[in-house]
Amino acid sequence: MMEFSKMSREELQAQLACLQKEYEAAKAKKLSLDLSRGKPGAEQLDLMQGMLHCIDSSYDCRTEDGFDCRNYGVLDGIKEAKRLFSELLNIPEEKLFIGGNSSLNLMYDAVARAMLYGVCDSDRPWCREEKIKFICPAPGYDRHFAICESLGITMLPVAMTPTGPDMDTVEKLAASDPAVKGIWCCPKYSNPDGITYSDETVRRFGAMKTAAKDFRIFWDNAYAVHDLYYDRYDTLADIFEACEQYGNGNRVFYFASTSKISFPGSGVAIMAASRENLAQIMPIIGTQTIGFDKINQLRHVRYFGSAENVLHHMSELADMIRPKFEVVLNALEKDLGGTGAATWNNPNGGYFVSLYVMPGCAKRTYALCRDAGVKLTDVGATYPYRSDPYDSNIRIAPTYPNKKSLHQAMSVLTLCVRIAAIERLLSENNCCM
Ligand code: PLP
Repeated sequence: MMEFSKMSREELQAQLACLQKEYEAAKAKKLSLDLSRGKPGAEQLDLMQGMLHCIDSSYDCRTEDGFDCRNYGVLDGIKEAKRLFSELLNIPEEKLFIGGNSSLNLMYDAVARAMLYGVCDSDRPWCREEKIKFICPAPGYDRHFAICESLGITMLPVAMTPTGPDMDTVEKLAASDPAVKGIWCCPKYSNPDGITYSDETVRRFGAMKTAAKDFRIFWDNAYAVHDLYYDRYDTLADIFEACEQYGNGNRVFYFASTSKISFPGSGVAIMAASRENLAQIMPIIGTQTIGFDKINQLRHVRYFGSAENVLHHMSELADMIRPKFEVVLNALEKDLGGTGAATWNNPNGGYFVSLYVMPGCAKRTYALCRDAGVKLTDVGATYPYRSDPYDSNIRIAPTYPNKKSLHQAMSVLTLCVRIAAIERLLSENNCCM
């Protein structure tokens, strides 16, 4: 397809008239489609149904060391669940704590706890400071940003690059201001870009100087084992190793969960941190709860049995998800390739395709889609304060709709992207020959 910016004004007007006709026809279909939900499709959840009967009333619910999981206790999680996550994520068991069903919950608690009690390198609660700031690689996960907003933490956006956050800026910010206490990272198959941090980026996270001695990296490895392909996958360097190598072993709070492995509503979440961090954290968690849902931990261990089996399950899920990513990527290529109206990422894993429409066109694309019955992730949601400086990024979540709905939704989306781009070009004086 010809690049829009190379078309004459008349050509653009003619093109727009055609697209508007298509748009009216799409609108008349009164669609109700949704590309905004980053959650598993029903068939993915069905694949896990067996886990619901691997523990029944005939099972005695004891751990391998004889502890009755039906009762109170074992605050930090049952031994066999630690072993499973340790193998899966390559984290020593002594660094692991197994929580409830949500890693986001653990992240919120980790930040709130630091605000109220401080962290192990300083017992001064962060809330005593006049201002607390977090570095926020953007685009990123909106719920990370919501935690900051909710707790009054100032967000400092930093651009993402193909190798992770712009580390020159991260290092500068962290080194220059003791109010900068943390950074949000989704280091593998990032939400929404699907970017995996390079080994050098991970090394720099371990090595960097921070003005705050109680600085923390919130390492949200939500998509640790979420490869989409057999022959193309990313690997992520070990953040604990990188930090320990430079004497910064307490710097990391690591999070993950089985939300997109087993069930998002009833998975198991983990946090990992150094011994000193856990020594400070666990007594505080012990005042919050007498223990998390150990029967669910046991259920996951019994169902999967080994990290290898988890990975096999992930490859079955990938077989279901991959065709949906292909629908999205094929539609983008077919309808937008060569137009200059958008660029997009083609990730090796994770849950999203990150679409960058022509700067200044995301809000308009969103509104056009909405009026034609296609819901997109709120524009701006992927940036701190919901403010995309380029009004460009749109997060596409392919997993939840069925393939037919996805096809329909994508043809509306690409149509709206083209309309918004041409409208924009026509409104600019200098764009057309
Ligand atoms: N972290 C990231 C980067 C996510 O994309 C999501 C869900 O979309 C979560 C965390 C939520 O995790 P959980 O279900 O364990 O709370």
